[in-house]
Amino acid sequence: MAKILVTGGAGYIGSHTVLALLNKGHQVVVVDNLFNASYESLVRVQKLANKSLTFAEVDIRDKAALSQVFAQESVDAVIHFAGLKAVGESVQKPLAYYQNNVEGTLTLVEVMKQHQCYHLVFSSSATVYGEANQPPYIETQPLGNPTSPYGKTKAMVEQILMDVAASDQRFKITNLRYFNPIGADISGDIGEDPNGIPNNLMPFVAQVAVGKREKLAIFGDDYPTKDGTCLRDYIHVSDLAQGHVDALNWLFNQQEGCCEAFNLGTGDPLSVLDIVRGFEQYSEQKIAFEIAPRRSGDLPAFWADSDKARSQLQWTPVKTLQDMMVDTWRWQSKNPNGY
Ligand code: NAD
Ligand code: UDP
Repeated sequence: MAKILVTGGAGYIGSHTVLALLNKGHQVVVVDNLFNASYESLVRVQKLANKSLTFAEVDIRDKAALSQVFAQESVDAVIHFAGLKAVGESVQKPLAYYQNNVEGTLTLVEVMKQHQCYHLVFSSSATVYGEANQPPYIETQPLGNPTSPYGKTKAMVEQILMDVAASDQRFKITNLRYFNPIGADISGDIGEDPNGIPNNLMPFVAQVAVGKREKLAIFGDDYPTKDGTCLRDYIHVSDLAQGHVDALNWLFNQQEGCCEAFNLGTGDPLSVLDIVRGFEQYSEQKIAFEIAPRRSGDLPAFWADSDKARSQLQWTPVKTLQDMMVDTWRWQSKNPNGY
């Protein structure tokens, strides 16, 4: 068992991954500045796992504070979630995104080097494939040119990490490209808790169901897809969390330095209407919606070729659409106002 430092571990994907790590018997140190999270998520994770973790309220850009955490803990590997993630906001505030996501990663990797920690799992995104690549996206396709500053930070960090690994064979790095994480832990005690109006489809649907929003706006029904709404590859957050545990095992078993990208998606494209109808069916809640104009920057359809993660990481997503819907509703109905 290893000691894993998780940046952004109090957030949505981070908290589910911390739970999976504790359940596997790993020790966990969470570094989070709580900019987009609540410490309550970690209180609940510790309760669910019946194990404790170490928490440091630190901004990853604060080199001295981060270095102190590494000095106190003997860290074997880092899973790096910390960053900003709102695509639209990144267009308005590009500097905040480059500072958090790019500068933050540079500081983290420098500190890792200082403390001889060379295993790194990075939270990348399907957005790095950009507009030019055709779905299903596969890791052999070149990095695209994402349109938003958010997407650009992910592509830049992937490139930086490839250069770092090429320069120093001690580094073992994976860039995990997430598709669309949704759902919540089966307990309904941890889940996605966005600030303000949700940008993403699933939390918006869940807030309509719980009465916090009047109706969903479906952004466009005239795309060249089966029902005119966009297609995405939705992946249960607990399957995604397991992907990090599997990626760590893979890294620990590599004999030589490496930097490899893996898609984490199911490979099954679903439309916006599939999600709305699926949620209605499995939660038994009616979702009011209207068709609205297309959202600028949305791609009509993308999904993963997930063979590489399945064969090399031996990762198998097991959750169904029903699980994704039932678990989202359990979390939202138990916690109508989040944490
Ligand atoms: P989240 O906002 O819930 O979690 C990010 C966490 O990082 C938060 O707890 C936040 O407080 C923390 N954080 C942000 N900046 C920090 C800093 N400078 N120092 C320390 N902590 C900081 O987001 P999430 O959905 O859990 O996403 C986690 C990662 O996965 C992000 O890097 C995101 O870009 C990436 N990702 C998310 C999705 C998605 O749809 N949720 C898709 C692809 C990639
Ligand atoms: N979407 C929508 N209404 C919303 C939020 C999202 O119709 O309030 C659509 C969006 O246009 C896209 C899909 O749902 O087609 C998934 O959007 P999300 O923002 O969750 O993920 P992303 O587009 O980043 O893959």
